Amino acid sequence: MSTDAPGQLFVISAPSGAGKTTLVKELVARRPDLRFSISYTTRPQRDGEVDGRDYFFVQSDDFARMIEAGDFLEHAEVFGNHYGTGKAQVNSLLYDGHDVLLEIDWQGAAQVRENLPECRSIFILPPSLAELERRLRGRSTDSEPVIQRRLGEAFGDLGHWQEFDYAVVNDSLTSAVAALTDILNGSGLAHATGQPGVRSQAEAILQRR
Ligand code: 5GP
Repeated sequence: MSTDAPGQLFVISAPSGAGKTTLVKELVARRPDLRFSISYTTRPQRDGEVDGRDYFFVQSDDFARMIEAGDFLEHAEVFGNHYGTGKAQVNSLLYDGHDVLLEIDWQGAAQVRENLPECRSIFILPPSLAELERRLRGRSTDSEPVIQRRLGEAFGDLGHWQEFDYAVVNDSLTSAVAALTDILNGSGLAHATGQPGVRSQAEAILQRR
């Protein structure tokens, strides 16, 4: 994949329950030039989800064929299902001059950073571990075993925040959207993971439960 496209690629990752989806929707609403990449997944479609809007829902053998054909910029297994970002879609958006947002897990983010080092990656942290658990439990669609598994995975995912260029705490929608907007505008230095303030805030969140 070429790296001289006029658009900028942003990658957002967060543990399940950190509120990432709401943030991403807000950002896309505020930045009409920003495009959200629609992922492919083998996960079953949930109520209210639309094929081609929320995801491209595909069968496992189709997904495997796409891997074989090199169609993915990145792909990963998350909660037992496969997810991937279509290379062609992202490439054409970037060449059209759009900034593009990928909302993917940390494994996929690591692959994108390797393939396209000029991307900017952002990790969303929950305000606390207790709040993360509360949000995960609040999802009526999930059964207790699913919640337990998601909690375990979410706490594990949090350990990857330092691999990202930026970290944003989703304590309030307004402040998190403001921080993300700064990052998208190229003025997000205060949120860089190397900043001592960001580091101590993240460490405090990860220690408290
Ligand atoms: P959900 O099934 O709840 O929509 O998403 C589950 C997880 O899969 C989330 O962490 C989400 O960020 C991640 N995910 C969604 N699309 C992709 C993708 O294209 N690639 C990767 N690596 N992860 C994805």
